[in-house]
Amino acid sequence: MSPTARKWRSSTVPTASPWRWWNIPGAIEEIGLEFFLEGDERTEAIARKVIAGERLSVDDGLHLYSNSPLHLLGALADHAKRRSCGDDIYFCVNRHVNYSDYCVNECRFCAYFKKPGSPEGRRLSVNQVIEMLDSGYREFHIVGGCDPEPGLYYYLEMLSRMKKAYPETRRQCFTAVEIEHISRMSGLSVDECLDMMIAAGLEAIPGGGAEIFDAEVRREICPNKISGDAYLDVHRKAHEKGIKSNCTMLYGHIEEPVHRIEHLAKLRSLQDETGGFLAFIPLSFHPENTMYADLPGPGGIDDLRTIAISRLMLDNIPHIKAFWIMLGLKLAQVALHFGADDLDGTVVEEHITHRAGANTPVGIARNEIIRLIRGAGLVPVERDTLYKIFWRGDEG
Ligand code: SF4
Repeated sequence: MSPTARKWRSSTVPTASPWRWWNIPGAIEEIGLEFFLEGDERTEAIARKVIAGERLSVDDGLHLYSNSPLHLLGALADHAKRRSCGDDIYFCVNRHVNYSDYCVNECRFCAYFKKPGSPEGRRLSVNQVIEMLDSGYREFHIVGGCDPEPGLYYYLEMLSRMKKAYPETRRQCFTAVEIEHISRMSGLSVDECLDMMIAAGLEAIPGGGAEIFDAEVRREICPNKISGDAYLDVHRKAHEKGIKSNCTMLYGHIEEPVHRIEHLAKLRSLQDETGGFLAFIPLSFHPENTMYADLPGPGGIDDLRTIAISRLMLDNIPHIKAFWIMLGLKLAQVALHFGADDLDGTVVEEHITHRAGANTPVGIARNEIIRLIRGAGLVPVERDTLYKIFWRGDEG
């Protein structure tokens, strides 16, 4: 960058947020809640519950989805986010690997899978997976389709070789859907399968596969996938064994707001029971190359409303991720003021969303994440899978 350009940037690019929503209770008293609400007493009552730190009901969540002004929703979600982690925004230097795109489930919203045996598909050998990794990462995030071919030992060998080669890097591997599939194909219970995976090196479970829990929606979008209750049960079992996990919701296809809110309520309820979820990731649907290619997919306003409502409903899940791969980098940055406190990570290589038309990069550099967070006026904090902190952007 030339000296002139540097001078221009440093004098014109704001380095801190021009407004401070963390002072929302004060602002509401000063400006008057009516300013935001235009006489909507129900939303006012819900806003006051948020400010008082009270839990929102399913009806509250539904009312917010359909009635609340976007700015108020963002302000309330930002208030809730700041109450738990202030200005901090987490990120991880991680490496995604999609080991196989063969999948028996053939979900209608998925552009990633190939029919088992199809020449277009690919399954990486354990050697190939290991060769894609190196020691510069804090996390390996390993997911794939429900491939009928490899036996349990393929997965166990992958885990144990990762652990041996890179003992310092966290291994977040195989969604609940894959774990249920692997256990069924191996003639084991989910409990037995999890025990063997943990012994081999599994440290955390990613959140994919939740989609929308409602049985009717699920029958339509992914009729062959395990039920919402079965997904939750794998996470419950993992949590009982001391394994932490993330959870997700795929939104913006055929579901209604009620399905989203009920989905969030089920996650909240399991979290009350186990406390094992670290982060929730709302996944914005990408329709291209799926059986729902004629649907528009969610817009940016829906993305921001969903992130904000997720923060407000999930009062017991500490982190809400703005997954930039699906949102795009710029909207993910804005989402950091709508309740999100985590940008996920460097990713490096992603196939699942990109086959469905995502036009984001397949990975970004650590410095680019830090720049995005600082550009939002917030503090970058580098973490691993389990939110162990390695570096804070306000410490030099
Ligand atoms: S979403 Fe997952 S389970 Fe469904 S078809 Fe795609 S890879 Fe398979």
